[in-house]
Amino acid sequence: MSSNAPGRSDKHTAPPLPEPLRVPVADSHTHLDMQSGTVEEALAKAASVGVTTLVQVGCDLAGSRWAAETAAAHDAVHATVALHPNEAPRIVHGDPDGWSRQGARQPGGDAALDDALAEIDRLAALPQVRGVGETGLDHFRTGPEGKEAQERSFRAHIEIAKRHGKTLVIHDRDAHADVLRVLKEEGAPERTVFHCYSGDAEMAEVCARAGYYMSFAGNVTFKNAQNLRDALAVAPPELVLVETDAPFLTPAPYRGRPNAPYLVPVTVRAMADVRGVDEDTLATALAANTARAFGY
Ligand SMILES: [Zn+2]
Ligand SMILES: [Zn+2]
Repeated sequence: MSSNAPGRSDKHTAPPLPEPLRVPVADSHTHLDMQSGTVEEALAKAASVGVTTLVQVGCDLAGSRWAAETAAAHDAVHATVALHPNEAPRIVHGDPDGWSRQGARQPGGDAALDDALAEIDRLAALPQVRGVGETGLDHFRTGPEGKEAQERSFRAHIEIAKRHGKTLVIHDRDAHADVLRVLKEEGAPERTVFHCYSGDAEMAEVCARAGYYMSFAGNVTFKNAQNLRDALAVAPPELVLVETDAPFLTPAPYRGRPNAPYLVPVTVRAMADVRGVDEDTLATALAANTARAFGY
């Protein structure tokens, strides 16, 4: 393969392998089913730079079943299962711009959401499924007409996580106050992770008091994300995780190119800078925290 001229970034070219971490860590949130290449290739590439464990996150029924199957087949992979906050309203109302690659969907009403939740419940009982998520609230992509279905789905996922003793994985986009409110009303599970943490330092204090894990993604490296770095700086060391959310949120300087678990070291190094610790110290904490957060 030919390399690009310096300074030129090809949107479809995978960023180069970073220098390996000396202390292995986990990617606490990834979507292998939305990335190119095989699972085996992704795991080998990640392991070659010290990313030895992955949490594969389901967003719809097909993706959740796939996550459970993939985790059953690979020791390095743990699964979480859920209907994404933008998926739940689509099941109820239908939506031509569906999350799922299945595309346009017929509205199924409340009964269809109940059926889908029953399947998530069944999958959540499996031993290789360590968490329920990503669930939560997304006021960015879901408009007012979908709010009710989204919140009903979120509450149901919290109940499922608690009943099975699994970790709750939260997706919170432009919905901080409502997510915290629902968690308080329902009672959060023992282990709750804010994936792609997007709050400020003040919210990090709230999460810290509640014992919620905060998982930082590649956007913590973005120039305009000082609020995330401020939050990371005050988060208790035992509650911090790292993730890719790949194929999304590729860290700088590769922003806009395809993301994958092997790029975790780039984000870990940026996070170590923010916290003023060396990379091995941070990696040791991240590895222990992820194992504790997902109970593996
Ligand atoms: Zn998300
Ligand atoms: Zn995600």
